[in-house]
Amino acid sequence: MTLNPAALDAYWMPFTANRQFKKAPRLLTGADGMYFRDDRDRQVLDGIAGLWCVNAGHNRPHIVQAIQAQAAELDFAPPFQMAHPKAFELAEQLVQLTPAGLNKVFFTNSGSESVDTALKIAIAYHRVRGEGSRTRLIGRERGYHGVNFGGISVGGMVANRKMFGTMLGGVDHIRHTHDPARNAYSVGQPAHGAELADDLERLVALHDASTIAAVIVEPIAGSTGVLIPPQGYLQRLRDICDKHGILLIFDEVITGFGRTGNPFGAQTFGVTPDLMTVAKGLTNGCVPMGAVFAQQKIYDTFMSGPEHLIEFFHGYTYSAHPLACAAALGTLKTYAEEGLLTRASALQGQFAEALHSLKGEPHVIDIRNMGLVGGIELAPLPGEPAKRAFNVFLDCWEQGVLIRTTGDTIALSPPLIIEPAQIDRLVDTIRTALRRVA
Ligand code: PMP
Repeated sequence: MTLNPAALDAYWMPFTANRQFKKAPRLLTGADGMYFRDDRDRQVLDGIAGLWCVNAGHNRPHIVQAIQAQAAELDFAPPFQMAHPKAFELAEQLVQLTPAGLNKVFFTNSGSESVDTALKIAIAYHRVRGEGSRTRLIGRERGYHGVNFGGISVGGMVANRKMFGTMLGGVDHIRHTHDPARNAYSVGQPAHGAELADDLERLVALHDASTIAAVIVEPIAGSTGVLIPPQGYLQRLRDICDKHGILLIFDEVITGFGRTGNPFGAQTFGVTPDLMTVAKGLTNGCVPMGAVFAQQKIYDTFMSGPEHLIEFFHGYTYSAHPLACAAALGTLKTYAEEGLLTRASALQGQFAEALHSLKGEPHVIDIRNMGLVGGIELAPLPGEPAKRAFNVFLDCWEQGVLIRTTGDTIALSPPLIIEPAQIDRLVDTIRTALRRVA
């Protein structure tokens, strides 16, 4: 399959060095199970579940059929002041999977929208309760919370600040938890660093709790290099939030839907947030959809608030879109039938062993893992950050394996249907690439 040059030129690709890419496009034309097919008709092993989203593997029959049937039956239903039955059915099924208490769900269309929705719920919640001074939002260095204004403001990506400058005011950050001096090559949760959560106490002391609405963190920071939370860290954040009436938001866009061995990271880490954002695995990546889960007490506050604030004044034309709901219902059916939401716990031992066998290979300076998510950090090429990891990506691509890199870290998050032999192939392909690249 060849692309006409005008088409290649017209598409402004997201998060991509367009000029470089267009010299040698990588085109995916089909997919099935653990594999993509590319325009050279090669089978490419998917080591990253598309983009941390295709947790059940590609083109699964329940999902395909659900979308097709829905498109033929009800293409769209306005989501304000009315609804369609599958939205309720999906919400009910979803809240069976969440940690106790997180039993209300608000639908969005992406992770970025989920994040900004959760931040708005937090601010509005305090206003409805009569504590409108609580507007400050706290994020974390190296956090990634999507691309919208709220998300890039609470996020801690330097690249965002380089391109967009300072964003929302009234935002502060706690330190990230990456501490290679103490924790390099930890298997699972690092032993050191729980005390980093005390940064939040420092910010409370500085700004006063009466000004702080919420704290948002990813249980595992994914897009900034797979940073696993130190033992006890998330619980400590929870305790500090409880002490000061601050809402705790977990961004589970990556860790949701089985990635860590339970439906959600909150269950794996034994810490329940007040609000939880998801997307990606919710529909197995098939149709864009996100969601925010909220504690009963938050929903009840809105329901019993003053009359002029009783409606949460927020939503999207495509909230709970019929096709997305159908895709999500098909996805949940697939997860349930195949036990996929806990499968990572059965595979994580082998995954960890395979991953950590790369210790000592050229350029490797750290390896991090949890469930079926892994990070392999490389020493950067002098003066050319991210280039070495990208060269490994290109080498793996030529070997027929798709990995992902973020900075100089290789990030792995295979579909949860991966077989042990495919884990070995994934890691051996990276090993070969590491030995070949400069
Ligand atoms: N939050 C986290 C933790 C993410 O990893 C991502 C995407 N990788 C997002 C939010 C944004 O999701 P989306 O690209 O669907 O807007």
